[in-house]
Amino acid sequence: PAKPVFAGELPMGLQRISNIIAVSSCKGGVGKSTVAVNLAYTLAGMGARVGIFDADVYGPSLPTMVSPDERLLEMNPETRTILPTEFMSVKLVSFGFAGQGRAIMRGPMVSGVINQLLTTAEWGELDYLVIDMPPGTGDIQLTLCQVAPLTAAVIVTTPQKLAFIDVAKGVRMFSKLKVPCVAVVENMCYFDADDKRYYPFGKGSGSQVVQQFGIPHLFDLPIRPTLSASGDSGIPEVVADPQGEVAKIFQDLGVCV
Ligand code: ADP
Repeated sequence: PAKPVFAGELPMGLQRISNIIAVSSCKGGVGKSTVAVNLAYTLAGMGARVGIFDADVYGPSLPTMVSPDERLLEMNPETRTILPTEFMSVKLVSFGFAGQGRAIMRGPMVSGVINQLLTTAEWGELDYLVIDMPPGTGDIQLTLCQVAPLTAAVIVTTPQKLAFIDVAKGVRMFSKLKVPCVAVVENMCYFDADDKRYYPFGKGSGSQVVQQFGIPHLFDLPIRPTLSASGDSGIPEVVADPQGEVAKIFQDLGVCV
């Protein structure tokens, strides 16, 4: 196994970042990118300098979820560093902005591409870098955690997939790396209709997970057509509706990272 590289030699590109937050899930499609993007824009709304690194090279979501004017990353030919693109002052780096088609790559290549994008980007001075992790807890995720000195991790899951074993895997990976899991987001938890709240997948399992693994915070995120629509429109929900219920949940999450 690769030894942690940040023990003593932090990559140049990451040296002026105060907090690196990993948003992680064991499975795809649970809303990890939705949480990462809305968390980042919430922190930016609170006045922080923020960047988002979309580490999912197989299915990058960032280019769909935010619409920067400049959709291609530029390389500085002299320093060979990458200039992030920007939307509403948040710096963005994604393989989806690299101008190549969806690549077929083996694991070690993926790790290489991710590390290069992450560490050669000119992030500058940031209060928070939010990393949208690739789903799972394999080698790619582990390498990424060893390159970036993570401050905290947020685990995203959905009620029906809230198998202990899944969250346990995530928590175990981060605890091995001495990264605190500060919150679990249980996404698509409920919806409101006719003045009633419905929990289509049942409820209660979230608090059990939080107790069992000693995670300090649990957030329930509702199923919201606007959350899905905003993901496709390029304007995050917390930006489109900053006073809404979803924005309030993200403000609480923002405070605890
Ligand atoms: P992941 O990053 O885990 O693969 P995404 O964030 O891309 O998941 O979400 C998958 C799909 O579900 C997207 O189309 C997204 O807009 C939608 N989605 C995520 N969370 C919600 C929610 N709470 N309510 C409605 N749609 C959601």
